[in-house]
Amino acid sequence: ASGYSLLRDPHHNKGLAFTEKERDAHYLRGLLPPTVISQDLQVKKMMYSIRKYKVPLQKYMAMMDLQETNERLFYKLLIDNVEELLPVVYTPTVGEACQKYGSIFRRPQGLFISLKEKGKIDEVLRNWPQKDIQVIVVTDGERILGLGDLGCQGMGIPIGKLSLYTALGGVCPSACLPVTIDVGTNNEQLLNDEFYIGLRRRRATGLEYAELMDEFMTAVKQNYGEKVLIQFEDFANHNAFDLLAKYGTTHLVFNDDIQGTASVVLAGLVAALKVVGGTLADHRFLFLGAGEAGTGIAELIALEISKQTNMPLEEACKKISLVDSKGLIVKSRIDSLQHFKKPWAHDHEPIKKLVDAVNGTKPTVLIGTSGVGRTFTKEVVEAMAALNDRPIIFSLSNPTSQSECTAEEAYTWSKGRAIFASGSPFDPVEYEGRVFVPGQANNAYIFPGFGLGLIMSGAIRVHDDMLLAASEALAAQVTQENFDKGLIYPPFKNIRQISANIAANVAAKAYELGLATRQPRPKDLVKYAESCMYNPAYRSYW
Ligand code: NAP
Ligand code: MN
Repeated sequence: ASGYSLLRDPHHNKGLAFTEKERDAHYLRGLLPPTVISQDLQVKKMMYSIRKYKVPLQKYMAMMDLQETNERLFYKLLIDNVEELLPVVYTPTVGEACQKYGSIFRRPQGLFISLKEKGKIDEVLRNWPQKDIQVIVVTDGERILGLGDLGCQGMGIPIGKLSLYTALGGVCPSACLPVTIDVGTNNEQLLNDEFYIGLRRRRATGLEYAELMDEFMTAVKQNYGEKVLIQFEDFANHNAFDLLAKYGTTHLVFNDDIQGTASVVLAGLVAALKVVGGTLADHRFLFLGAGEAGTGIAELIALEISKQTNMPLEEACKKISLVDSKGLIVKSRIDSLQHFKKPWAHDHEPIKKLVDAVNGTKPTVLIGTSGVGRTFTKEVVEAMAALNDRPIIFSLSNPTSQSECTAEEAYTWSKGRAIFASGSPFDPVEYEGRVFVPGQANNAYIFPGFGLGLIMSGAIRVHDDMLLAASEALAAQVTQENFDKGLIYPPFKNIRQISANIAANVAAKAYELGLATRQPRPKDLVKYAESCMYNPAYRSYW
């Protein structure tokens, strides 16, 4: 290949870091200015220019440009500056990027599979340049973050998630495939936008939808085998639970909104118990919001309680109550409930208001997953603080504007007694001379390591016990020093180490359950996980 095309190949380009020898060997003389610099200096230079942008979307676009021109430098930057750049390539900025995707779209970084490709999906997959795919993140764009239906523009999410699979979990970038399924959109604004990049029709449903998804799932297995991980991302709940149930028995599938959230929140709870005391079974849980996140977390908590105590799952479920848009979920509502809510319909009088549900069910743990902001009012937090010495309060709704309460509100209204975590990041809060650092229940703690664990063990199915194994591994990474600051999640700067530990625990579970195909089992799974992780340092080309 010519030097000119080498500079335009993002997988091999090193920019000014090409050495003198490489410049001679690969016909690069004259195509670059004379200076030769190190990758570390390139990182410094890029960070300098990214920090100059004041608008988050400009930082995002600079990062995407880098990913398309010099992939290794992009990952080096992201890994070395993870705390600073995570909010740029992922939530909250990626949300804005999706909203404006039509106008910032430049080059395809993933596969678009629309109803037009029906009957030809196999061909579409063969158009993708890489053949050895290990992870696919797929969305249909119907429920992007808390932003609703963004149709085909949801593509920013699979791209962002997969860049975290590589940066945080060490999965090789060439083995990652972002996919957007376009079956139309019900977003009127997009349908009327002349720059919209997707199909201009309302969403297909029923058989038409199911057939396209089925063709996709079949083609994926045919092209990439049984061990490819398919992560469903940001599907609306009327499809998400059904897709997971349908393909869970035939494919290696994982839904981050349901299962990843559950695992990361359970880890936070397990860590919080080290501060509050007692076992999970000693606690009572109340959720505001009974969708993918709420019922997913509730189910995993119940499973863990029943494992710890040998209590039947049904008994464990009774320790958990959920409130949806119609009030507390109770027996008398059972006939009109969506199937994923039915296990939570307990014998209880109907209650409409959250504060009455708090006083009526007396939870020790309150979790917000409704997507509606400002719902943990002063009255609600005070009720939790009156019932509990150390109330556990998680405001998980994203983005920041939708958080059920702020960190400051949780700490001040509970007089510094709350153990608080949130979905979106909040700054530390000073209250009566003490500094409280709120934890962020970010799914990025779990899914990259979880995926690495599946890949490195050659797992063929996801099992709930693997989610518990991931939670356990994450909770074990919280140190006394973290606890002393009020933190129930470890800092992100050590995320690769954390991911390696999660991957090892997940892989161990896969072997234990007989779901791992990579034989023989490596002796030291943490070491093995580390050895599998992608390293973005430049390679020498000659
Ligand atoms: P979802 O499946 O659409 O569920 C939303 C639930 O909230 C539904 O049960 C809905 O009730 C209920 N709800 C809506 N408005 C309400 C109100 N005013 N009062 C009480 N309940 C109300 O959405 P999801 O996927 O679970 O996501 C929910 C939120 O969690 C989003 O903001 C998302 O960003 C956040 N989340 C955070 C994390 C994290 O922190 N790591 C992870 C995942 C999701 P009906 O069922 O009656 O409609
Ligand atoms: Mn999601």
